Amino acid sequence: MKVPLLDLKPQYQSLKKELDEAILKVAGSQYFILGPEVTKMEEEFCDFLGSKYAIGVSSGTDALLLALMAIDLKPGDEVIVPAYSFFATAGVVSRLNAVPVFVDSDPVTFNIAPGKIEEKITSKTKAIIPVHLYGQSADMEPVMEIAKQHNLKVIEDGAQAISAQYKDGRCTGTIGDIGCYSFFPSKNLGCYGDGGLIVTNDDELEHIVRIKRVHGGEPKYYHKVIGGNFRLDALQAAVIRVKLPHLNDWSEKRRKNAARYNQLFIDAGLSEETGRTGFDENNRVLLPEAAYENINGLKNYHIYNQYIIRIEKRDKLKQFLTDNDISTEIYYPVPFHLQECFSGLGYKKGDFPNAETAGDTSLALPIYPELKDEQLVYVVDKIKEFIIG
Ligand SMILES: *Cc1c(COP(=O)(O)O)cnc(C)c1O
Repeated sequence: MKVPLLDLKPQYQSLKKELDEAILKVAGSQYFILGPEVTKMEEEFCDFLGSKYAIGVSSGTDALLLALMAIDLKPGDEVIVPAYSFFATAGVVSRLNAVPVFVDSDPVTFNIAPGKIEEKITSKTKAIIPVHLYGQSADMEPVMEIAKQHNLKVIEDGAQAISAQYKDGRCTGTIGDIGCYSFFPSKNLGCYGDGGLIVTNDDELEHIVRIKRVHGGEPKYYHKVIGGNFRLDALQAAVIRVKLPHLNDWSEKRRKNAARYNQLFIDAGLSEETGRTGFDENNRVLLPEAAYENINGLKNYHIYNQYIIRIEKRDKLKQFLTDNDISTEIYYPVPFHLQECFSGLGYKKGDFPNAETAGDTSLALPIYPELKDEQLVYVVDKIKEFIIG
């Protein structure tokens, strides 16, 4: 049986008529960049996410870059980022000649460990970028508290977590000063190329983001500030507008698949339960979980952009699954502090043990909404065969 990591064809088939029409409508309108499709998409996201403003941009990476430009990040300023994330989170800081300052991850959620942030704050620190990795909200309450105390901006990297919710029910991205999302095709809400979104509740930040999205001119051709070309194509907005009404349904299906995997692992005797904090010698597969229960027993609404297990013999397991037609992926094998391009920052192996363990042991299993139950069963059967024989 073949189990791809992600297959977007069934989603396209299910919405083919609407998507084809929307794309042709843009071609017919000859309005290719920004314009009415993008404006309507932005209005729909304000409603959907519960944010005052939404601004369509050229990619998730550009959303982060533009957010940092909007808070006027200067060369030499410091920005706190988790040591374990997709490269863009730290890359955008360096592109503005500012300094990314790394913080270790939480061992359960892979997200930034709030208890380790404060010791990294200096007089040069300007912002924190918590990442909602794999579709689960970072622990925003303490992050916001620290930011308030030290007068820092919070820019949320929600590229993998559009419509995920923090334990208090708020959508990730709408909690800090600026939220950033990506419409890269493999994200939970993907367009047909590159695209992204910025949200904010702050009138001033909205204004500066909109100006800097188009080179910073205000009025056009008169520049008090420097921006760039961070515009979104109408075609991408049209595709997103067709897909957005289905996002909640897809998230539910991903969550169902995750719950099914968890149960299958437990039934197979490979894991005892979720809810543990780190490696347990008696458990051979460590399962992901929705964390940070609040006082009402509500947990994060995890939308599983990735379903990540952790296992000691990760590389051998990956090969075994590949040999059995099951595609998996290693996100992210090298944490930021061990990347060659950041070697000048003076970090060394051992500085961020949780990020390093995550990089060494995590494996993403197929989790997309259209997976069939027999495929999930097959994946866990094969992992059982690998572990127990
Ligand atoms: C995908 C991703 C980005 C970048 O988004 P693009 O649209 O590919 O530029 C940034 N941060 C994280 C955590 C991501 O997963």
